[in-house]
Amino acid sequence: MTPMRVTVIGCAGSFPGPKSPSSCYLFEADGFRLVVDMGNGALGVLQRYAEIADVDAVLLSHLHADHCVDLYAYRIARRYAPGGPMPAIPVYAPSGALERLAKIHGIDDDDGMAEQFEFSTLQPGHLSIGPFAVEAGHVNHPVETFGFRLSAGGTSVAYSGDTGESDELVRLATGADLALFEASFLTTQVGRPPNVHLTAREAAEHAARAGVEHLVLTHLVPWNDPACSREEAAAIYDGKLTVASTGLAFDL
Ligand SMILES: [Zn+2]
Repeated sequence: MTPMRVTVIGCAGSFPGPKSPSSCYLFEADGFRLVVDMGNGALGVLQRYAEIADVDAVLLSHLHADHCVDLYAYRIARRYAPGGPMPAIPVYAPSGALERLAKIHGIDDDDGMAEQFEFSTLQPGHLSIGPFAVEAGHVNHPVETFGFRLSAGGTSVAYSGDTGESDELVRLATGADLALFEASFLTTQVGRPPNVHLTAREAAEHAARAGVEHLVLTHLVPWNDPACSREEAAAIYDGKLTVASTGLAFDL
């Protein structure tokens, strides 16, 4: 059976923190490297775990900056490599990704993004990316956002993207071996907006409903104490529980 490795590259929520870039995860199976989300600062830390040339595909949950903006930096790295431009790799993303990311450079055309990346527009449903069988579903966030279930070698990992409370997330994650669930807020946070993010307690409730084997709390806002996030989740979820940190790897 082929093992799958998932490495947390960035787990800071909404903005980079002193100890972590924004959202980014490296999924590896069969020698294939899939990067899921590429938030601010992620490209730097990613290079500790994969060479610039060694990423085979990118999957973006949504087009908020803290999940996608370093794809533009990655385009520069691939375009101006010392040995000449690297071949295009596939990027699976919500509608409008190329146009949005090209604008980062401040000019109106596609800025050559399409020479480095073959964009495919995500739809809810199933797709294959290398050895990964991916199921995508819309979750509960103010812009079009996908949660995913990624399976390879007989194991499955669910990733929430950014979401408020979501039955679709529970469906995608049902019985997963690992669940990377966002836990942006603590229940004690004042003025939490609805339908944007989960608290650690809500992440745990979703994981319990889905019956996942191992819950990883991620998208942690830097001003929260991770110990408090763990405490909130542990009161609800009695399976294996981990608070994400940069460089943490899971072999499945
Ligand atoms: Zn977002």
